[in-house]
Amino acid sequence: MVTVGVLALQGDVAEHLRALEDSGARALPVRRLAELDAVDALVIPGGESTTMSKLLVAFDLLGPLAERVRDGMPVWGTCAGMILLARVVLDGRPDQHSLGAIDMTVRRNAFGRQVDSYEEYLDVVGLDAPFHAVFIRAPWVEEVGSGVEVLARAGNTPDGPVVAVRSGHALATSFHPEVGGDGRLHRLFVDMASGN
Ligand code: GLN
Repeated sequence: MVTVGVLALQGDVAEHLRALEDSGARALPVRRLAELDAVDALVIPGGESTTMSKLLVAFDLLGPLAERVRDGMPVWGTCAGMILLARVVLDGRPDQHSLGAIDMTVRRNAFGRQVDSYEEYLDVVGLDAPFHAVFIRAPWVEEVGSGVEVLARAGNTPDGPVVAVRSGHALATSFHPEVGGDGRLHRLFVDMASGN
């Protein structure tokens, strides 16, 4: 059975752990290096990317995590986690780190202050029916490199902002799939983590 970690420095960890278990994985919170070493794949949850960046440094995890990701560990960033996977972050804090796992430019809090959160049924490449997506102070993707596949756009229109991407072993979603009650993206990631 594949072991999938959830970075547990901050953010909505418990919901991801439950959804991963429901998808047939062994799920473990990751706070220290020995725990990172024990997982086959990692979810970086929603929360606050600037805080998570600081805690990654404080817990001596930033370097080891960047190395695991470079070595091809499957990784999925949701919301703040998407920001942490980006190569370039717009509207971030100047001292905020990101892992550069996906060749993309992400804008923090892109949907604007007034629209703190919203929900919609998104068409996602690879899913047979629309996905109930919950956005909370969400980022969006402004630019992607050539190896990055766009999986969904807000509003389901061809010129809508990009809100889900995949690049090889890395997946990123602007929304919170762990709160919508739909396990299909967790199953997709468990499949990726299992080498499918
Ligand atoms: N706005 C947050 C950030 O910049 C992300 C919000 C979330 O993860 N729900 O990290």
